[in-house]
Amino acid sequence: MSITPLSLPKPPDRAPEFGRDALIACESLVRIYQTGSIEVQALQGLDLTVESGEMVAVVGASGSGKSTLLSILAGIDAPTAGKARVDTWDLLDMSRSDRVRYRRQTVGFVRQQTASNLVPYLTAHQMVDLPMTAARTPVRTRKARASELLDMLGVGELADRRPAQLSGGQQMRVAIAVALANQPRVLLADEPTGELDTATSAEVFGALRDVNRELGVTIVVVTHDPEVSGQVERTIAIRDGRTSSEVLRRSAVDGDGDTHVIAEEYAVMDRAGRVQVPREYREALALTRRVRLALEADHVSIKPDNS
Ligand code: ADP
Ligand code: MG
Repeated sequence: MSITPLSLPKPPDRAPEFGRDALIACESLVRIYQTGSIEVQALQGLDLTVESGEMVAVVGASGSGKSTLLSILAGIDAPTAGKARVDTWDLLDMSRSDRVRYRRQTVGFVRQQTASNLVPYLTAHQMVDLPMTAARTPVRTRKARASELLDMLGVGELADRRPAQLSGGQQMRVAIAVALANQPRVLLADEPTGELDTATSAEVFGALRDVNRELGVTIVVVTHDPEVSGQVERTIAIRDGRTSSEVLRRSAVDGDGDTHVIAEEYAVMDRAGRVQVPREYREALALTRRVRLALEADHVSIKPDNS
């Protein structure tokens, strides 16, 4: 590796604490599952920060570690190593009773299978009421809040129905209302539209955007649907248990006054400076084990090692 010397601004003496101002901060997060003699590294040093009030989508192939990440953030599963903080909670250092409090107060979780979020013999209203009862919320507050949430999610008219009397999209809206019952700061949703048709999933996604805007709740939503991830400002791609790239979307107004959405893909660099070079790039220039890095005035170049 050759580095062209240049005069550079002096870096700060100490790097600021990773993701200090973020609501969610994961650094070098590792989760290893052990089944018998087989070890699966579901997360292999994942970095992620989410600011308060953001709505981000997480995409990635099946088996890339998305559900593992979400169950760690939900306080259901514990990481093997690394750092993970949500609000003031250190997810690697929580007692059993901390976990109960965290899951009750700080995060709402919508699971991957729609049915597993709902209780078959309860009505929509009763299901939203349940987590508030567990949190000892006074009955009058519970009533008002359950109606308010079901209305906000567009299922207020269906409050007396049981899951079997609701469509898939309606069930998912109720599940979101249940997850929001205790006014969590963070809402986590694992493929909430995975079992829905395109039109219905666009509606459910719209409902998530509404609650993000109206309640200010921070949302992390896992999806395999690239269309759906086109509706958020930031999409994080996970590959092999690590964050590999991010797509940022912003609106720009052109000369004719028309608004366009611009999407730009960024590679993610970890704290140690590692960046993944996409396979197409590596193949195009036959980049293999060793490459030449050079520091230019305003960029860094990577060249094949032809020595
Ligand atoms: P995704 O949600 O992106 O499809 P997962 O987080 O469910 O991925 O899984 C990541 C990897 O971890 C997969 O290889 C999966 O088989 C493995 N895995 C997930 N949960 C467990 C578990 N409880 N025990 C063993 N391996 C698991
Ligand atoms: Mg999954």
